[in-house]
Amino acid sequence: MQNDSLWQAVLGEIELSVSRGSFITWFKNTELVKSDAAVAVIGVPNVFIKEQLEHKFSGLISDVLGKNGVKPKAIEYKISSVVSTKPVYDDPVIFGEKAAEIEEEHVVKTANGSSLSHSYRQGLNERYTFENFVVGASNELAFAACQSIAQNPGMKYNPLFLYGGVGIGKTHLIQAVGNDLTATQPGLRILYISTEQFVQEFVDALRFRKTADFASYYRSADILIVDDIQFIAGKEKIQEEFFHTFNALYQANKQIIISSDKPPKDIPTLEERLKSRFTWGMSIDMQTPDFETRCAIIQAKSLDHQVTLSHEVVEYLSTNIPTNVRELEGALNQLLAFCEVRSLEPSLSVATSLLGTTKTRPKHLSAKQIIERTSRHFQVPIEDMVGPKRDKDIVVPRQIAMYMLRSELHLSFPKIARELGRKDHTTAIHSVDKIEKLSRLDPGLRQTIADIKERLYA
Ligand code: ADP
Ligand code: MG
Repeated sequence: MQNDSLWQAVLGEIELSVSRGSFITWFKNTELVKSDAAVAVIGVPNVFIKEQLEHKFSGLISDVLGKNGVKPKAIEYKISSVVSTKPVYDDPVIFGEKAAEIEEEHVVKTANGSSLSHSYRQGLNERYTFENFVVGASNELAFAACQSIAQNPGMKYNPLFLYGGVGIGKTHLIQAVGNDLTATQPGLRILYISTEQFVQEFVDALRFRKTADFASYYRSADILIVDDIQFIAGKEKIQEEFFHTFNALYQANKQIIISSDKPPKDIPTLEERLKSRFTWGMSIDMQTPDFETRCAIIQAKSLDHQVTLSHEVVEYLSTNIPTNVRELEGALNQLLAFCEVRSLEPSLSVATSLLGTTKTRPKHLSAKQIIERTSRHFQVPIEDMVGPKRDKDIVVPRQIAMYMLRSELHLSFPKIARELGRKDHTTAIHSVDKIEKLSRLDPGLRQTIADIKERLYA
């Protein structure tokens, strides 16, 4: 069969299994560029559609292609200029009631006349679940709060404000709440939106004088999840809009979940009234995962690829990529792909040669370095750190050093005690425990630990 007629057949079938809105938005201007035993290449007009087809409809496309006798090993999506010059769907902007008819998926025209696929879909990615989230000291509080919300949305912790550095699992967790609730309470209206998308939609709504519809759309959510709220900084009109959305939902006991890369007080030009509202419920500072958690994450992710890595490789990766899980995942994927293509075992030497030459630094942290770094941070002489003095300004740095020996090197308690000149290992147990507990409550202490870590790995 010719690609064209084959694709028409496929589209005909797809049209029956998705909503009209979905079909028009995602499939209408696609074509089959190529198909053979190895690969089917589908041409799509833009990157939004490419992503959507890849993430949401790949299974369906592959099934329907299969039914039509095409079973390639892979399906690829390519942005194809031929397709993008074709006229695009040009229904007017649709918000509100009519939007419901096409299942919350819209196509809006941008100012330059090109068409931008735009959807008020739930925005959830099934890949993010509670089950595949690795819990450790750095994120257990956030994890527990999110689980509790998934069980009882709108009751406790409203709003939940989750903040922390890049790539530490904020999006993962807040999406997991949405996915969990989608499964357990399918009747709920759960909306996940990135702040950038929220801003874009609001700007479009202004342009098309559809702000009332925009407002009613978001205010009718049962659960509203807004990711990366820091991007609302400096945007007055949107802050105003979000303020009203927030109030409407809050008053109706609807759950609001917000993530940010910094706490509300540090978001520049964020209106006071929003700042205060963001802290009405529960704010949680998510930490970069400790060494142990990083190892557990690598182990879990490599198992997803059906690979069991040796301890030394796991430790190598955790040591070299200390702060960002996304980068950690990236390095792991790079390693596994490299080994697969060359039929190599993912050994330490492969990992070192592959990653050592790129952005990571092969550096094996020692106990001595941790103690030195900590003593320098507090300007306490090393002799005092490992000596007998019990003054508070020495005891606390010493306890922090012990904590870091545990979290970063996973040393045994007797060894930690020895490193700091203590005879009794219960001192090490108490110290580590104490700092662990304190750091949960004291953002200043967490920052101190983060600063020391940052220097250690720099
Ligand atoms: P953030 O939103 O904080 O920048 P993400 O949630 O996007 O970070 O996380 C980056 C990547 O790391 C995602 O692929 C996510 O699944 C993964 N990840 C982060 N933390 C964990 C964890 N504790 N367990 C499993 N995967 C994690
Ligand atoms: Mg994120």
